[in-house]
Amino acid sequence: MQVIQNYIGGKFVPPASGQYLDNHNPATGEIFGKIPDSDATDVETATQAATTAFPAWAALPLEQRHDILRAISDGITRHLHRLAEAETLDSGKTIFASSTVDIPRAALNFKFFATALLHFASESHQMPGVLSYTLRQPLGVVGCISPWNLPLYLFTWKIAPALAAGNCVVGKPSEVTPLTAFLLGEICNEAGLPPGVLNIVHGLGPKAGEAIVRHPHIKAISFTGSTRAGAEIARIAAPMFKKLSLELGGKNPNLIFADCDYDKMLDTTVRSSFSNQGQICLCGSRIYVESSIFEKFKKDFVARVNALKIGDPMHPESRHGAVVSKMHFEKILSYIELAKQEGGSVIAGGKEVRLPGNLAGGWFIAPTVIEGLPLACRTNQEEIFGPVVTIQPFDADDEALVLANGVPYGLSATVWTNSLSRAQRFAAELQAGIVWVNCWLLRDLRTPFGGVKNSGVGREGGWDAMRFFTETKNVTIAG
Ligand code: NAD
Repeated sequence: MQVIQNYIGGKFVPPASGQYLDNHNPATGEIFGKIPDSDATDVETATQAATTAFPAWAALPLEQRHDILRAISDGITRHLHRLAEAETLDSGKTIFASSTVDIPRAALNFKFFATALLHFASESHQMPGVLSYTLRQPLGVVGCISPWNLPLYLFTWKIAPALAAGNCVVGKPSEVTPLTAFLLGEICNEAGLPPGVLNIVHGLGPKAGEAIVRHPHIKAISFTGSTRAGAEIARIAAPMFKKLSLELGGKNPNLIFADCDYDKMLDTTVRSSFSNQGQICLCGSRIYVESSIFEKFKKDFVARVNALKIGDPMHPESRHGAVVSKMHFEKILSYIELAKQEGGSVIAGGKEVRLPGNLAGGWFIAPTVIEGLPLACRTNQEEIFGPVVTIQPFDADDEALVLANGVPYGLSATVWTNSLSRAQRFAAELQAGIVWVNCWLLRDLRTPFGGVKNSGVGREGGWDAMRFFTETKNVTIAG
C-alpha cells in the first residue's frame, strides 16, 4: 500500500486529521494507495509556510530563480520513467501517453517558464517631461488547483509560471490522480527549491480545494476542471476580489470539409477523438462532415476506431487505456445509454471492455461512435469527457457554423479544409478560444490558451500566464 503525504514547508507531512482517502488503479479497480484527506487546517499550515517563504523567493536574483526552475525541469526528465509509471498507475492512461506526452510536457513547462522569467518585462509610457512605467510584481501566495486528466502536465502548467513570476504556491492536484504531484515534491527538494515556496495539499475538492479558494491570504486562484466546480469557485472568490483564471469544460466541434487533405484528417481525427480515452478537454467530441464525403468518412473512421489497441495501460503497445475512475466509467456508460434513448445509433464500441486476468475489474470502455443525433439533444450538448464522439453530415458552410457554435461551451474547434477563405472565415466566426486548422493539439506554449462561454475565463500560456500571476502598478514621475 502506497501512502503519500502532503508537501508543506519542504517536508512530507501527514494530514492534521490523520484521515486518508483510497487511491484506485483504474486498470484493475483495486485500491493501491492512500492519500491525505486534508482540510482547512492543512491549507492554513501550507499558506503560512508559503507566506514565510515569499519575501526571499520574490527577491531572489532572476538567474537563481531560473536555475532552480530549470533544475526542476531536469529532475522531471531524469525521473521520466518513474513519473510515467506513476501517472499510468494512477490514471489508467497508457504508458505510451505518459512517457511521450504527459511527463515530457511537465518538464517543458518548467523549462519554458524558467526561461520566460529572464525575459519578462513591463511597459513604459512617455509624455513630454513625464515618464510612466509599470511595475509587475508577484501577487504573494497563490492557489493552483488541477484536474485528473493530464495530472502532472496541468499541475506544472500552473505552478511553473506562478513560481517564475515570484509567487509562492499552495497547490492541490486532483484527489483521483495525486501520485506524480507527490513525487514532484521530492524533485523540488533535489533541485534546491527553498522550503515553503511550493506546498502541495492533497484531498477532496469541496474540502481541501475550497479551503484554498476561501483562504483570505491566497490572492489568486488558477483552476482547471469542470464548469460546475469553476462556477462554485467563482461564487466564493468573487466577493474577495481574487484574481481568477478558470479553464473549464468543452464540447468541441471538429469540422471536416470535402476539400481537406483526407488522410491527414483521418489520422488526426482518430487522435483528436480518442487520445487519453477522450479525456482531454480539447478532444473533438462532435464531428461534422460535409455530406459528399460523409459515407466514406464513416466507413474509414469506424474501421480505424475498431483497430485501436485496447489493453493493459502499462503495456508499451497499448493505445487505449482505462478511464480514470469507477464513477467516471459509470457516467460515460450512462451517456451511451442516453444517446440510444435519444435516437442515436452506435456504429462503433458502445460498451465496456472486459480484459482478462488481473485487469478484469478495470474500467475500460471501447471507443464509441454514435450517429443520427440532432444538435439539441443532451448527448450533443453536455460534456461526456470520455471515448465517445457523435458524427453528423452537413451540406453548407453556414449550417456547419451553426452546428459548431450551438453549445454552451467554447474551448476549441478544429477545421479541416484547404480553402484559405473558408479557414479564415471559420477562424473568425467560431465561438472558441482556440481554433486549429488542418491540425490538432499543436501547441506553441507562447500562445494564449483558454476558452469562451462556459469554457472559462482568462488565458494561460506565455506572457498571459506571467501577467496573470503578477499585479501591475503604474508609477508616474514628473521631471
Ligand atoms: P473537477 O472540477 O471535478 O476537479 C478539478 C479539481 O478541482 C480537482 O483538484 C478537484 O479536487 C477540485 N475541486 C472540485 N470542486 C472544487 C471546489 N468546490 N473548490 C475547489 N476545488 C474543487 O474536474 P475533474 O473531473 O478533475 O476534471 C475534468 C474536467 O476538467 C472536465 O470538465 C474537463 O473539460 C476539464 N478540463 C479543462 C481543461 C481546460 O484547459 N479548459 C483542461 C483539462 C480538463
